Amino acid sequence: MPKILSKERLASNIVQIEVEAPLIAKSAKPGQFVVLRINEEGERIPLTLADKDTNTGKVTIIFQEAGASTKLLGSLKVGDEIKNLLGPLGTPAHINKVGHVVVVGGGVGIAEIYPAIKAYKEAGNQVTTIIGARSKELLLSESKLRGVSSEVKVCTDDGSCGQKGFVTEILKEMIEDHSKEINLVYAVGPVPMMEAVCHVTAPAKIKTIVSLNPIMLDATGMCGVCRVTVGGETKFGCVDGPEFDGHLVDFKELKARLSAYKDKEQESSNHVCKLLSKC
Ligand code: NAD
Repeated sequence: MPKILSKERLASNIVQIEVEAPLIAKSAKPGQFVVLRINEEGERIPLTLADKDTNTGKVTIIFQEAGASTKLLGSLKVGDEIKNLLGPLGTPAHINKVGHVVVVGGGVGIAEIYPAIKAYKEAGNQVTTIIGARSKELLLSESKLRGVSSEVKVCTDDGSCGQKGFVTEILKEMIEDHSKEINLVYAVGPVPMMEAVCHVTAPAKIKTIVSLNPIMLDATGMCGVCRVTVGGETKFGCVDGPEFDGHLVDFKELKARLSAYKDKEQESSNHVCKLLSKC
């Protein structure tokens, strides 16, 4: 069973683990994800791969302790084993040389943009990275992203680091400052952020890729739980995605589907909190 090789708490409820998974490390490509089950009774949790090391056979996963299963995952220690780790899953990002790519990461989504930035850069693009979080403590991976990006722009909602405001404000300023053409925008973060990014890029006709996180079960295209409407067609987030043309995504439907089980999720999360005596 895959073993947890390292664990680091990046913020109060954001945890990074490195897991032993040589076959996944060997074949994973930017944009792909894994599904893990903590134990025999555990639900399947889809998590984007934040990084991988083919030499040591490790994959890096960064997650927010948001619900019952992620709280349980966050309670595991170095040396503990995870019941199953399935992957790499999903269609890899289509990385081409397009010129100037702006990668936008919001909140926990920041943790997941490193592989795409690296790949866009290696393909010969200039990459401007915009990262934003509620406050300084929640800004993840800044120095690591500076290492692979051409330029990094930072903002926080409360102004505790970088420009005060949302990532979309920086993006809008960049679009309005016509000195550097933007050929592609790639956004990962909370759904309202990805929707807002699309609202900013649509009038300027800048192609925008978003990485969606619909509720998922089997993650292999069989159950249909992760269906999303893209350009009027039903797509499966797990196999057709997770990346889609943001201008074609039905965000209203995605938000409704994501909140369908909120009460049950809260109930289950409270139960785990009691078990772990954490809350
Ligand atoms: P958050 O709400 O703290 O937002 C992070 C940043 O995104 C903000 O600082 C702001 O810059 C930007 N942002 C948020 N809402 C915006 C809006 N309406 N308009 C413009 N910009 C906006 O984010 P969080 O708490 O870290 O995110 C949690 C959510 O993100 C969870 O629901 C999680 O499932 C989801 N998530 C999605 C992905 C993905 O693959 N798309 C990855 C990680 C997390």
